[in-house]
Amino acid sequence: AAKERGRGCAIAYDVEMDKDVAQRRFFERELRGAVLTGEIDVHLQPILTADGETLVGMEALARWNHSYRGAIMPGEFIRLAEETGLIHQLGNIVLQRACRAAARWPGLFISVNVSPVQMRRPDFPDVVMAVLGETGLEPGRLVLEVTESVMIDDPEKALVALRSIRDLGVQIALDDFGTGFSSLSYLRKFPIDKLKVDRSFVLDLDKGAEAATILHCVINLGRALGLRVIAEGVETVEHARFLRAAGCHEMQGYLFGRPMPVTEFEAIYGLAPAPERAVA
Ligand code: C2E
Ligand code: MG
Ligand code: MG
Ligand code: MG
Repeated sequence: AAKERGRGCAIAYDVEMDKDVAQRRFFERELRGAVLTGEIDVHLQPILTADGETLVGMEALARWNHSYRGAIMPGEFIRLAEETGLIHQLGNIVLQRACRAAARWPGLFISVNVSPVQMRRPDFPDVVMAVLGETGLEPGRLVLEVTESVMIDDPEKALVALRSIRDLGVQIALDDFGTGFSSLSYLRKFPIDKLKVDRSFVLDLDKGAEAATILHCVINLGRALGLRVIAEGVETVEHARFLRAAGCHEMQGYLFGRPMPVTEFEAIYGLAPAPERAVA
């Protein structure tokens, strides 16, 4: 930004940069506090079979319950968490809460987003194993969502990490598929169970025939490789109809339900009560 403004603006630049740095430090301190005090919440969004009839699982999405700003969306804090290393603790909180919630609801899977920064840590598979042990969740009901960037950064390391996670019996989903730069060979090389077609392709369905062609290709590719294909961002009945006919296995989007607090999810889907209440 400094270069854009040119040499004459050096002083203005410095003042502004100081403000940015101060703001960032402030936000970082607040995020650190939130992670320490557990102000990080997990919302759940339903995932259904392609006919939209049966609930099969849910995605856990992080929310920062800020004391006076209210709920802050992940788009505003995940990157900062990654840059500051706070993502490890934050990710553990999300993983723990998500698995604990899912453990009470037999038959459903829980999908949890994992940052490339978390994946890079050699002890990440141990963390996953520990959380499974603590929460009692069957490994097969946990899905870890990674993005293509995981494979591009350091393919060899990523392969080792994904394999050891897979060895635990946990499933791997490739999130936001189609937005990254992974080559198709990665799809064969890496141990992946699910493909999540990015919601931008679904949104583009409203704009014309090209999006439909791309979606057909991506869905067929996933199916041909033996993967389960999920569409995200399903907002309308037309989207759902198209995606079902195109061969998607599962669907997720506002049409079926927004991400919501665990208690609300429980109320809507009438799931088993929490053990602590069942005992009381
Ligand atoms: P994502 O993993 O692709 O999650 C799906 C996002 O799409 C969520 O946004 C969800 O609220 C939104 N969404 C779902 N259905 C619809 C729909 O029908 N229409 C539209 N317009 N949007 C829909 P959210 O919760 O804001 O999360 C944004 C991203 O932040 C996530 O994208 C994920 O990459 C990241 N994220 C969220 N929670 C975590 C976390 O615990 N750890 C990490 N590392 N990343 C997270
Ligand atoms: Mg995701
Ligand atoms: Mg996604
Ligand atoms: Mg996405």
